[in-house]
Order: sequence, then structure tokens, then C-alpha cells
Amino acid sequence: MPYRLTVIGTGYLGITHAACMADLGYEVLGLDIDAEKVRCLNDGELPIHEPGLEPVLRRGLESGRLRFTTSYEEAGAFGDVHFVCVGTPQKKGEYAADVSYMDAAIDSLAPYLDRECLVVGKSTVPVGTASRLADRLTALAPAGAQAELAWNPEFLREGFAVQDTLHPDRIVLGVRTERAEKVLREIYEPLGEVPMVVTDFATAELVKSAANSFLATKISFINAMAEVCEAAHADVQQLSLALSYDDRIGGRYLNPGLGFGGGCLPKDIRAFMARAGELGADQALTFLREVDAINMRRRARMVDLARELAGGSFHGCTVGVLGAAFKPNSDDIRDSPALDVALTIERQGGKVTVYDPIALGNVRKAHPELAFGRSAVDAVRGAHVVLLLTEWKEFVDLDPEALGSVVAARKIVDGRNALNAEAWRSAGWHYRALGRP
Ligand code: NAD
Repeated sequence: MPYRLTVIGTGYLGITHAACMADLGYEVLGLDIDAEKVRCLNDGELPIHEPGLEPVLRRGLESGRLRFTTSYEEAGAFGDVHFVCVGTPQKKGEYAADVSYMDAAIDSLAPYLDRECLVVGKSTVPVGTASRLADRLTALAPAGAQAELAWNPEFLREGFAVQDTLHPDRIVLGVRTERAEKVLREIYEPLGEVPMVVTDFATAELVKSAANSFLATKISFINAMAEVCEAAHADVQQLSLALSYDDRIGGRYLNPGLGFGGGCLPKDIRAFMARAGELGADQALTFLREVDAINMRRRARMVDLARELAGGSFHGCTVGVLGAAFKPNSDDIRDSPALDVALTIERQGGKVTVYDPIALGNVRKAHPELAFGRSAVDAVRGAHVVLLLTEWKEFVDLDPEALGSVVAARKIVDGRNALNAEAWRSAGWHYRALGRP
């Protein structure tokens, strides 16, 4: 393998990218400013939950091709290609993205880039960032250095991160030179035939914002239909099924429910609106404001339904909450709709007990004020209302009869339209779901 790679920022994206690149045969050095994370990773412990990633990490470490550091000096000396995967969260109190971690990574790395190398941005950033960072890199790298920037947005999904990295739908390269294109094509060659779009910086950055906006819009579209179904006493599940048979529409991302959350879609559509505003193109994206509003209204509707089942008030009511992660097969609780609903009910006087198969550790750290169950059954013991908020398979497979024997009242709101309504009703449950009669 001709190139040695560094991966800067080892979070959900960076760990996966580093481990998968080592699995493809590259020598990889991961870098993070979080020394504890680096220690964990070097010991083969995954600081996040991602299905199938741990064996890939261990294989990399055992092969000697993968290791982690906190030293930018070491990274600069090691890498021919540096992938930057640091976070770009929403700024507090604003829609815009905070790209200061990106700037900091470039500032720390650039002084050590004293030979020919490529710095490749993978994080999701406002359009225009790559061009600005390219100037910053040139200004801060040693005189005469041949350090070049490229942009390669990432499309992996948490829960499927390894599969998405090793078998991507497409690869997008924003490059300014043939050399950058050649290097990146070579690096991704072991992935086999993957559709590749080679373009300029701005288009590459925008592809990611556009993709996330489309997905968010599709989810909010079906959730808007759910709102209308609720008003018209229609069934959004059947409506969605009927729509899905139309190839032009397709059934994916058309599941009505509690809406989207996590560390990407919500902050990315907001950052996109903010950036469009700066560019004088805010009118183009006003629909995203509605997409965001529809999404947030689902959470409020969920709380209303729960309160209705609780008899009009949460005071004196015990609520068993199933799920805290923003989606199944992840421990990520960033902007989690499930957690948002649980916290709102707690604030409104309910006694909430939460259970999640994987995310509880993260919830405990962030919200020690909540009560936690040791299992699904434990969390709903004595509950007056049960809420299904993240559609983990173990919740979908729950036996309504068995669960019914431990609750105070057989009342459930299915926030993800994931349960078999008939089976739950037959077991004597008062079953409600978003968008259905
Ligand atoms: P994360 O918060 O899990 O990880 C970010 C990491 O960067 C942290 O470990 C942090 O310590 C580290 N970091 C911060 N500043 C640093 C610096 N100056 N030098 C080195 N390391 C630094 O975030 P994530 O979910 O991995 O997302 C990273 C980026 O990738 C974001 O822009 C996100 O939008 C994008 N992205 C994420 C996903 C996903 O599914 N998580 C998918 C596609 C794109």
C-alpha cells in the first residue's frame, strides 16, 4: 500500500474510517485531542457502540497497521494523506455550524506538513469551508511545503457504519488538481466498483447538505401526512405502504413516527439554512424550516398522546420509557427524540423510568436525574403508561402478555409504528400510535 493515512478526530466517523482503512491494508494513525479516547482505542476498547466495528478495530491493532495518538507532530511525520473527521456541531443558540474544531485541526496539523501530502476533509461543513481551509493550510504550512486540500464528504449511517464505509453507494471527491484526484482514487480502489463523482469543493460540500436535507424532508413529509391522518382518522401506516409501491417515491425513509434526531440531520439542515442565508439564498431553503418544525411537532404530539393516556396529567403517573438512543443499534443520544420526550414528561411531573439496551451509559452521564430500568420489563414495572420511543428489535419482539403482567395499566404509545397493533390490542392493551386511529 503506497500511502500512509492519518485520521484526525476519532468519533463515530473517524474511528470507523480509521479501522476500515486499516482493514483494507493501509497503515493508519488515528489522532484525537481526547487522551482518554486514544488510550481506550489503543487498548482495543471501542468508546462508542457500532455494530461490527470492534473486530475491525482489534484486527487493525493486532496487525500493527492501526494505532492512535494525540500528537500532531507524529501525525504530520507519519501521513501522506490526512483525513479530517472532527465534529461540526450546531453553535449554541444559533442555527449555524461551529467549524472551530475544523480550523483547530488544520492549525495544529499544518506546521508539521513539510512534505508532499493531501489533507482531506470528511466532516460535514457549510459550503465555502473547504476553500477557506485550503487558504489557511497554505498560509500555515512551512514555506515550500506541498500540502494540498481535498474534500470527500462522508455518507455513512450510524448502525451500518462499517458496511457503509466498505460498500459505499457513491464516493464524492472535491478536488482542485489531478494529483489529488489520482491519490484519492487509488486510496479507494480496494473498495472495487463504486460510482464516483469528481467535482469542485463547493459542489462536494453541498452534496452532503443536499442529501441530508432530502432525507429529512422525506421523513417530515410522511410525518406531515401522519398529522393529517390524525385529524382525518386515517391510517398513515397504510398510506405509507401504498405510497411505497410507487418506484418514484420508494419506501425507505418513509416510516411515520417520532421523527429524526442524532448528531447529523437536525444540525445539518439548520446549518444549511444558516449558510444559505449568508449567501443570500435563504428563500431557497425556507421549506427546511417547515421540515424542522414538523419534526419537532412529532415530539410534542408524542407527549400529548402519553398525557392523554395518563388521564390528562402526568402528576402521580409512572411512565415506562423504552428507548433513549436516537435510533436502534446506536448508543448516540445527541438530539435524541426519545430522550427529549422522556425529559419533557419528567419536567411535566411524570415519574419516568428509561431503559435502552446500549445507550443507558450515555444517558446516565448526561441526565443523572432520570430513573433507569435494568431491562425493558424492569423499566415498565408498575407503569401507568408505556412509551416505545426507539425501535430496538428487542422491544419489537416483546410479548404483550408478559409485559402486561407487570404494568399498572395496559396502555402503550408506539412512537415508531413498530409494534403489531393487533397483537397488543388482543392482549388487552390500549394501543395508540402516531398517525393512526
Ligand atoms: P464525534 O463528536 O463523535 O467525533 C468528533 C471527534 O473529534 C471527537 O472525538 C473529538 O474529540 C475530536 N476532535 C475535536 N477537535 C479536535 C481536534 N482539534 N483535533 C483532533 N480531534 C478533535 O462526531 P462524529 O459523529 O464522528 O462526526 C464528525 C463529523 O462527521 C461531523 O461533521 C459530522 O457531521 C460528520 N458525519 C458524521 C456521521 C455520523 O453518522 N456520525 C456521518 C457522516 C458525517
